[in-house]
Order: sequence, then structure tokens, then C-alpha cells
Amino acid sequence: MNGQVEKKRQLIDDGLRSIWFPFTQMQEFSPEDVLVIAEGKGALLRDVDGRDYIDGVSSLWTNVHGHRKEQIDRAIKEQVDRVAHSTLLGLAHEPAIECAKKLLEIVPKGLTRVFYSESGSTAVEIALKMAFQYQKQAAGGNPGKTRFISFTNAYHGDTLGAVSVGGIDLFHAVYGELLFPTIKAESPYCYRCPFGASYPVCKFDCLRQLEYLLATHASELAALIIEPLVQGAAGILVQPPGYLKRIRELCTQYGVLMIADEVAVGFGKTGKMFACEQEGVTPDIMALGKGLSGGYLPLAATVATEEIYNGFLGRFDEFKTFFHGHTYTGNPLACAAAVANLNIFAEERVVEGLAGKIKRLTQGLQPIAKLGHVGEIRQRGFMVGIELVADKGTKELYPPGARIGNRVILEARKRGLIIRPLGDVIVLMPPLCITNEEIDRLCEITLESIQAVVGD
Ligand code: PMP
Repeated sequence: MNGQVEKKRQLIDDGLRSIWFPFTQMQEFSPEDVLVIAEGKGALLRDVDGRDYIDGVSSLWTNVHGHRKEQIDRAIKEQVDRVAHSTLLGLAHEPAIECAKKLLEIVPKGLTRVFYSESGSTAVEIALKMAFQYQKQAAGGNPGKTRFISFTNAYHGDTLGAVSVGGIDLFHAVYGELLFPTIKAESPYCYRCPFGASYPVCKFDCLRQLEYLLATHASELAALIIEPLVQGAAGILVQPPGYLKRIRELCTQYGVLMIADEVAVGFGKTGKMFACEQEGVTPDIMALGKGLSGGYLPLAATVATEEIYNGFLGRFDEFKTFFHGHTYTGNPLACAAAVANLNIFAEERVVEGLAGKIKRLTQGLQPIAKLGHVGEIRQRGFMVGIELVADKGTKELYPPGARIGNRVILEARKRGLIIRPLGDVIVLMPPLCITNEEIDRLCEITLESIQAVVGD
């Protein structure tokens, strides 16, 4: 053990101190507290001090089959032995071709073209640029349709276009002057309904507002962008049944393109391969990331309909080209990982096997829901948000400085579970490969950790 402690000490001296960590208030950050991960297997992670943890959030909602999945490990090693990098600028390679083919077999019917990038944020940027440019140059042309409608509580990534369509003040407000203005619709945060209504008696006041905005601004709107079924980063805000389907109908009715950002919800996390499937919806453009490569390598895709694609066709001197592409667009290693990932879904019938685990998770959450400071538990498939409140009756929040969510996850860590809070919402999003016994342990530790901080 001493040797391992020394190792951590040495890592701190060696450079851990010099990393500026993402989404982290560095003044309050202590290198001593950081967990340095050494290895993983399945739903488990091990730190350099040799302690094991359940990975309760799939390493940032991404390692869908867990860690060190043999087929993905092998696919990457084999691809390294062929070529690690090439480009899609004037060239192509087999992994990118195969990955696109396999992806198109499983995305909602009607999506036919795959544009690669490396992160969820870039997949969203591409979707926005595509929608904007399509409206300018599609047959007949809609040059006035240049704006976007997006939602309060939305999170689409950290690059400036993605931030412009975001709606979480804590992350986004500081960049206000840099952003392009969008039209904002209220998202269905039913626990704290912005219209003071309650579902299902409300008959969707939020959708009525959205329809009003669409009707008023139809002539200037290029697209609507939505996180389908669940707004993740705002605290796992689950949309009521029928909501997404109605959004699709309204977009069609008002001639506004629908962009579905499936970066967080895609690849089985809601219980189906894609969230849009849950309501039989085909968006015009879909953004994918995170689970696409099984969480192994940075890979994302923006998938579009043939109609969108056709809007970019023309002679070279008509300048309808989609002038976009990154150095690592469609990287072969990442595409090889993605092909293996998609094969696993098919061969191991992963999505088909989820229902039992989801039920187990729901059962495990029940005792947590009874705790005096758990305002609401929101669950859609493998995505869970446990909202902690100072007062269950009034739904009063804890003061931000109390850092209740953060304290809960530190308690969980002591007990062998890695999770992350979003404010005072405790998020659980285990890998799809998690076993029933691990699900039980995940729920038990979460319960004990909440009790340790806010009591029964
Ligand atoms: N869209 C959604 C819905 C997300 O949840 C995220 C990341 N959490 C992103 C986009 C951005 O993805 P990335 O962090 O890979 O840029």
C-alpha cells in the first residue's frame, strides 16, 4: 500500500498539479483529493492506490459496454497495425465506410448520410451549420430562415454555436456577448413547471408556448434543436410521453427542421438504441457522440436525411459545398472502435437485454425516493437524476455554497462508487453491461451516501 501511496504522491509532484481541469473551480480543487484511475474492467474502475469502484456514470455517460471490452480492444489494436490516421479529404478508409454503413442500418429510417467529427459539441456545430446553409441554398431557397429555436435548460456542448443554443445559465451566461441570439422555448421541467402547472392535467402548456413561438417566427426559423426525451446536463429532466412526437409534428407543420441531439441519450441509454425511436420520430438531422465508439476514442457523427444532403449539391462554382471538416474527421482508429461497438450491440443483443436491468434499477431506487430530502427521482432507462431539496414540501433548494451534491458523491467514493452531481441532482448512468448485483450495490451506496449528508 505504501508503495501505491507514494505513487499518487509522485503523480501530484510530477504534473497533476499543472492540469487545469474541466468544469472545475481550481481554487477549491485539491490535487490530494483527485482519484487517479489506473485501470478498468466492465463496470468497475481501479485507482492507482488499488481501490475498486463501480463506475456509476459510464465515465461521463459514454462507456456503454464498460471498460476493456475485448472486441473493441482488439479492433483498435488491429487497426493500429494497419494505419492510425488518414483523412476523408479526397481519401477514404474501410473503418469509416463500414461504420457509416452500420450506423445507417440502425438510426431512424430516413436518415441516410453520415458526417463525422470528434465530439458531441462538434456534431452539434455541424448540425447547426448544415441546417442554416441548407435553408439558404435548398431548391427554392429560404434565405430568411436563419435563426434557431432552442430550450431553456438545454445543453448541447461547449463550443460557441452549441453554447448559443444552450440554456443553462450557470455554464452559458458568462459568454452572452459572444453568442448568436436564439428563440427560447420553456423546456418541460415538470417538477418545477415554469407555467406553474402539473402534468398531466396541464395538457402541455409548454407545447402551446412552443407552437406560438413556431407560428410567430416560422419564416425566420432554420431549425429547432432538442435533446430528445431527456435533458441530461440540466439534471436528467425527463420529457412526458408524447412530447417528442408532438415536437416532430410541429416542426413539420411550420416548415422548421428538427435537430435531435442524441449525444447523451443515444446508444441504448433510454432503453432503446436511440431516444427518437421511443416515439417513432425521425429528425431531419441527428447528432451522435459519446457512446458511438463505445467510449473509447473521440468520435461523433451528424446524420442527415437525403433531402438535407441534396440541398448541398451543385456545380463547384455554385459554392454550395459544405465547407467543414476537421483534421481528425472520421479517424480510422475511432471508426474501427465504433464498428466493434456497433457489432457488440447486434451480436450480444444488448438493447434487447436492458428491460430487466432497468426494472432492477427502478426497484433499487425506491427506498431512495422515500428519503426526506429527495424531492424527485427522474428515470428514463439507464439515466437517473435524484434531485435533493432542502424542503420536500416547498421544493426549496439548498444554498449553492452548501455543495450538497458534491458532498454526496464524495461519500459515495468512500464506499466504492464513482458518480457525479449536477448541482444537487445526483446522476446515475451506469454502463449497459452492469450486472444486477452491481445495480443493487449502486443503489445501496447512493442511498447510504445521501443519508450520510442529509439524513433520512
Ligand atoms: N450534447 C449533449 C446532449 C450532451 O450531453 C453533451 C455532453 N455531455 C454534448 C452535446 C457535448 O458533447 P462533448 O462533450 O463530447 O463535446
